[in-house]
Amino acid sequence: MSAPILGIDLGTTNSLCAVFAEGAPTLVPNSLGEFLTPSVVGVLDNGEVVVGAAARELRVTRPDRCVSRFKRLMGSDHTVDLAGHRFTPPELSSLVLKSLREDAAAHLGDEATDAVITVPAYFNDNQRKATKLAGELAGLKVRRILNEPTAAALTYGFHDRQAEKTLLVLDLGGGTFDVTLMEVFEGTLEIISTAGESFLGGEDFTDRLAGLILKQLGLQLETAEMRQPLLVARLRQQCESAKQQLSDAAEAVVAVPDAEGRIAAGGKTVRIASDAFAKAARPLLDRLVPPMQKALRDANCNLGSVDDVILVGGATRMPVLREFVEEFYGKTALVKHNPDEVVCLGAAIQAALIADDRAVDDMVMTDVCPFTLGVDTAKHMGSQIKSGYFTPIIHRNTTIPVSREETFSTILPNQREVTVEVYQGENRKVEKNLKLGELTVDGIPPGPPGQEVFIRFTYDLNGILEVEAYVAGSGKKFRTVLTQHAASLSPEEIRAATERLQQLKYYPREDMANQRLLRLSERIVGEIASFHRQQLEEAIDSFEAAMNSSDQELVAGARATLEYILSALGYSVPQDKGDDHGE
Ligand code: ADP
Ligand code: MG
Repeated sequence: MSAPILGIDLGTTNSLCAVFAEGAPTLVPNSLGEFLTPSVVGVLDNGEVVVGAAARELRVTRPDRCVSRFKRLMGSDHTVDLAGHRFTPPELSSLVLKSLREDAAAHLGDEATDAVITVPAYFNDNQRKATKLAGELAGLKVRRILNEPTAAALTYGFHDRQAEKTLLVLDLGGGTFDVTLMEVFEGTLEIISTAGESFLGGEDFTDRLAGLILKQLGLQLETAEMRQPLLVARLRQQCESAKQQLSDAAEAVVAVPDAEGRIAAGGKTVRIASDAFAKAARPLLDRLVPPMQKALRDANCNLGSVDDVILVGGATRMPVLREFVEEFYGKTALVKHNPDEVVCLGAAIQAALIADDRAVDDMVMTDVCPFTLGVDTAKHMGSQIKSGYFTPIIHRNTTIPVSREETFSTILPNQREVTVEVYQGENRKVEKNLKLGELTVDGIPPGPPGQEVFIRFTYDLNGILEVEAYVAGSGKKFRTVLTQHAASLSPEEIRAATERLQQLKYYPREDMANQRLLRLSERIVGEIASFHRQQLEEAIDSFEAAMNSSDQELVAGARATLEYILSALGYSVPQDKGDDHGE
């Protein structure tokens, strides 16, 4: 049997991998035996790249050597400087994907080469292409870019084939918010509309909490981040855990770190009550409303016709979020599947659909295009010609794949060429929309204004747009998959980037559990009273020395000592569940 297609949820905060096996989607554990791999990349002092939990721990003590949240940069021209290397966002994402791919290969005992990768439904063309590129850079053949809420719906649909309902999926992850309305009918899943915000997620709630605390110290988050990065890195991590505590408790205590990011014994603490957090979070909650309304409006649907509201994404664990949503829809929200895992499982179901797996042969799924796509046109306004108007060719929430053609006319006498500027968005003026690229059409026969130019947009199942144009008289065809953006590299450039990434030194995955324990312990040093510090630091030093010696017996001994001290200090040490296939 050939290797299965991987289903990958490439999240802002966490990434996961699943495969469809023996009739059901199953998650693939990483080298630590865990399903969630933090989307964090770090570079150790010796130049080795680490991805996942070890990098997330390292981020607290060495924020300068780590990067996270880069999903938010996908599709932009930003680059990130990290320990002497410059990375593009797709390159950083590719490191996460590579780590998942290698973990999957070790777990499955088979080299996996193909993948379905999920993206927020509201990701635009550039962001989707950047994701596809990330897959390619990780050596994966990307068989489908799938919308995350659609993936979540596939999981719900897979387990409830007889359902006949209108479902609304709300996905609030670390960095993005998506709303998708769909109908399920005898195994057919039809996406009706989708809306969202690419810059709203659980991390913003953490930042609110951090802001609340910094304000009490007379500081502001943005400026503190630049001036006291160690303080902010530690405070964020404290706030992250306080935010999660507030999901179960009425209050949480946050210890305030010093400028070096250390938490002194008997140092300053701030008590945060859940209602103070709710108040600080309110402006963020309010931002959920416009996309929720838009999805309903676009579907011509009212609140009453939604049967189930499904919550997806780790941030929907916040009671403030749940209450807000339940009040908005007037019904209890449904969480039948683990909100962290449901998207990834759906990606594996999509993989099964692609592979024509018999277990899903009664399932059909249709998706929509999230944005209106069109071109820049000029209009006659009295005697004047005004350009800059957006003329749609494919309207948002059209079922995909779709191909539509519109006819346009030249506006000047003897106009020999037209530049078709392609935009995505909902504004009637192009300047307020996102430019995706352009295509120049020449060879228009001379003549009066009104020569016809035909423009065809084809939007595929991955949400990627192809533009074609031709002029009636000339027979010449022009075609482009919009490639103006940084995310679109030529095959040659992809090869070069892949080679560059291959040359990085990677920390061996089979030793990741030790690396994680080392970084976790270093983080804890900054969190404990100073009179315990020396003992812990000595144990860390011995453990690090043992790791460097590569003497497995020494490592095991030093590890046991370190774990013993950590648990005596009240820290639960994550148990390395390891691979179920040995190395
Ligand atoms: P992504 O898909 O963007 O990677 P996830 O779905 O994994 O995101 O959700 C991550 C977000 O969920 C983070 O902001 C995290 O703080 C938040 N989160 C996870 N668990 C909880 C919890 N128990 N309470 C509140 N927020 C949580
Ligand atoms: Mg997610």
